[in-house]
Parts: sequence; C-alpha cells; structure tokens
Amino acid sequence: MIPLSVPNLNGNEWKYVKDCLDTGWISSAGSYVNEFETKVADSVGAKYGIACMNGTVGLQIAQIIAGVLPSDYIIAPNLTFIATLNSIKYTGATPILVDVYQDTWQMDLELLDNFLNEQTELKLTDGKWHSYHKSDGKRIFAIMPVHVLGNMCDMDYLKRIVDKYHLVVIEDSAEALGTRYNGKHAGTFGDFGVFSFNGNKIISTGGGGVIVTDNPTFAKKARHLTTQAKVSSMDYIHDEIGYNYRLVNILAAVGVAQMEQFPELLENKKTMDAFYRTELKGVGDIVFQDIRNDVNPNCWLFTFKTSHMRALLEYLNANGVQSRPFWMPMNQLEMFKNSIYISTQNQSAKIYEDCISIPSSAGITFNELLIVVQTIKNFYQTL
Ligand SMILES: *Cc1c(COP(=O)(O)O)cnc(C)c1O
Repeated sequence: MIPLSVPNLNGNEWKYVKDCLDTGWISSAGSYVNEFETKVADSVGAKYGIACMNGTVGLQIAQIIAGVLPSDYIIAPNLTFIATLNSIKYTGATPILVDVYQDTWQMDLELLDNFLNEQTELKLTDGKWHSYHKSDGKRIFAIMPVHVLGNMCDMDYLKRIVDKYHLVVIEDSAEALGTRYNGKHAGTFGDFGVFSFNGNKIISTGGGGVIVTDNPTFAKKARHLTTQAKVSSMDYIHDEIGYNYRLVNILAAVGVAQMEQFPELLENKKTMDAFYRTELKGVGDIVFQDIRNDVNPNCWLFTFKTSHMRALLEYLNANGVQSRPFWMPMNQLEMFKNSIYISTQNQSAKIYEDCISIPSSAGITFNELLIVVQTIKNFYQTL
C-alpha cells in the first residue's frame, strides 16, 4: 500500500532522541523544546514560538490569551478539520460557520463581509470597539481562518475585514507550515498562528504544536499558561488556572531534526504537486484545488474533485493506493448542525462530496508517484 501521508524521519531524529535518553532530559524542561520553538518561529518570521502538546491545545490557549469569553461568537470556516471547532468549544464560545469558495476551498470572504455588514453592529465597551450580532446581542470576538490543505485566501481582503470589525485573528495554520502569501508566512498575519506537528502533517514530532506570535505579552502568557501557571521557579505558587500543555523534550528533539530537513521536504512536496498537476490534468473529470497567484502553498496533501469520488476511493484503496475522502462539513455534524451557517450555495457540501486525497508523503518516490497516477488513469478507463 502506498500510504496517504507518513512522516519522513531520515535526519538526526535518532541522534537527538538518544541524547535526551542518555542525559535524562526527557520531559518538558529541556533544551530541545526551546530550540524547536525558536526554529519554528524563525522559519516563519515570527518573534516568538511556544511549543505545546498539539495544535488543538495551541488553538485553545491562543483563544484564552486573546480573551475569548464563553458568551462570545468565534467565526470559522464550515470546511475544516474538527480540531478547529473543538478548540472553540473548549473555551465555551459558540462558532459561526462560513461557507468556502468553490475553487480554493478557503473561507468565502465576500460572504463573511456581507454577513458582518448586515447582521452586526459595532459598539464601544470598556474603551474598546467590538462587533455584536444584532439579533441576539452576543459579541463576535474573533475569527479563526484555516489555511485549508496549506492553501490561503486573499489575506489583504481578510485584513481589511478584521480591521473594520475589530476581530482578533487566530490563524489555524496547522496544515500550512511553509505556505506564504505575497512572501509572508502563514501564521504571521494574525494575533496568533498555530502549527501542528501531528503524524500526518508536513513535518512531525509524533504529536505537537507551536503557537507563534509577535506580541511579547502574549508569548509570555502562553508559556505561563502551558506550564501550570507557576509563578516561582522554586515555590509551588500559581496565579491562575493553568494547563499541563508544554511539549516534552523527546518530541521536541524529533522536531529539531525535522526542522533541519524542512526546506528539503518542502521542495519534495512542491515537486510532487507539480507532477500530479501535470500528469492528472485532463484525466476523467478531475478538477484541482485552485491556488491564487499571490499564494505560494506548501502542497501538504494532494486533493482533487471528481464526480466519481466514492468509486475512485474504493478502487484506489483496493489497488494499493491509500486514499481518503475530505472532512465532513462542520454544519453536517451532530454537534454543530444548529450553528449559524453563512452560505448561499453550500459549496462545502459539494466539495465534500467530490474531494479525494491521494498519497502525498514528503518521502514518496518517483516510482510510487507513477503507480498512483497510473492507477487513477486505469480507474477512469473502467468507466
Ligand atoms: C491537524 C489539524 C489541527 C490539529 O492539530 P493537532 O496537532 O492534531 O491537534 C487543527 N486544525 C487543522 C486544520 C488541522 O489539520
């Protein structure tokens, strides 16, 4: 079976993990944790990086620090991985779901803009402007743009919207390490960006996340909250409810080794993406994800649309090519079926019905790529 997306561990992973074991520095106090977070922050051009146990808790911590209240709304795309929405529920807030563009599969900013324009009003409270939903008076405090599959939306337009409606921006950049918009890295547009290093991401620590921010107060707070909010290095005095969320040194050691290989792995992904786009162009009724000219994507997971999605999925998995459907849209899940959903065409549903992801490991070989392409072509010949 050619796997969908597996990590590539051919660098110093063993060496650094062995170093942790040899020296006894296996837990969350250890130099690899600091090194890893610095490496991630530097690679995207952010001032600070805070390593945590996974991307999901990173999103939760960012919301807490931003000041999200349980009475708030947070805007998120309807098409995302469940972690985005789960993190919103952890802080007790309520999601407002926005449909996505048919071609790029990112949040539809025209829909968002119209909704905010027509259904919200700005009010000054405690010296600060915030948007409030006209119908129920609840504050719309933040937005979590998700860079779906390592692609991005028109970030200049998004910036104009968030400035106008005074929204805090927490970028769910879990899939977008290395993606740039007009040269600026995903994760560095908002007040916070959160990356994931889960096993299927572009590079991995097994499990892990990094919050990036340029705000020193936020960075300090994030480090504090992820380490049980302990005030003194000696005494067990804590000044608020904290979390045991800091990444451990063994995993950070893997992360340091992965970051050393990141430029090369990113190149591999781009080569893979270009190969698929060339070879699969015009095959059956395949439609690729559209990438804006100002976006330089990390090509994380190759995904395309076809009206034969279910049959192709079955065929590929039966013929040694591991493939997966896309995420079920959030408004179709039991927990979020009553959420506010901003949409005119329900594009998320159509994208979900048609999308299939194919093998995209950074270490995929040329021969494997040929097999994947040939198997897909064979499928369309059976129709
Ligand atoms: C992977 C992912 C996350 C969560 O990251 P974990 O490290 O697995 O907790 C969040 N959002 C999106 C869009 C993801 O793909």
